[in-house]
Amino acid sequence: MMQTLEYAPLTQQPTMVNQYPGSMVLDCPECGGQMVLRMSYKFNKPFYGCLNFPHCRCTHGAHPDGRPLGKPADTATKRWRIMAHAALDPLWGRNDAGLHKQIQNRYRRAVYAWLAAQLGIANVGEHCHIGLFDAERCQQVIETCKNATRQQILNWHAERFPQTKQRNRRPPRYAHY
Ligand SMILES: [Zn+2]
Repeated sequence: MMQTLEYAPLTQQPTMVNQYPGSMVLDCPECGGQMVLRMSYKFNKPFYGCLNFPHCRCTHGAHPDGRPLGKPADTATKRWRIMAHAALDPLWGRNDAGLHKQIQNRYRRAVYAWLAAQLGIANVGEHCHIGLFDAERCQQVIETCKNATRQQILNWHAERFPQTKQRNRRPPRYAHY
């Protein structure tokens, strides 16, 4: 039977490689093979696919410039990452449609700073992403979030970064003339 591919390898379209300077070869966490950037015609964006397709169907997301989104994970780790997000995201109100975007961003920054401190991660922006975490780290996230409340995290953050509040109180630039 003919196997229909939803995508073709980028090597078949050499002109497109220039569009994705962040493209690289990744180790497949599922089969140990190699993953390369491919073009999804269905979603019209690049992603990483295993060279052992269709035997191995492992895929991984890519930034618009071809850089991988976090670290590729096997199926079990992916499941843990989903559960870690399910535990963490309500704390900053990911699905809370009534929340103002700026407030939500403030909550998210506080929650990630708090999480990084709990897990002993020094660089929040670089290293505190669930997309980088292995199963064990994800379990730590779930455990850490279990008894946490948003208010408790915001209090922690306000105590730890008191200057944030003062900066917000500064009058807007246009008032200085
Ligand atoms: Zn594979």
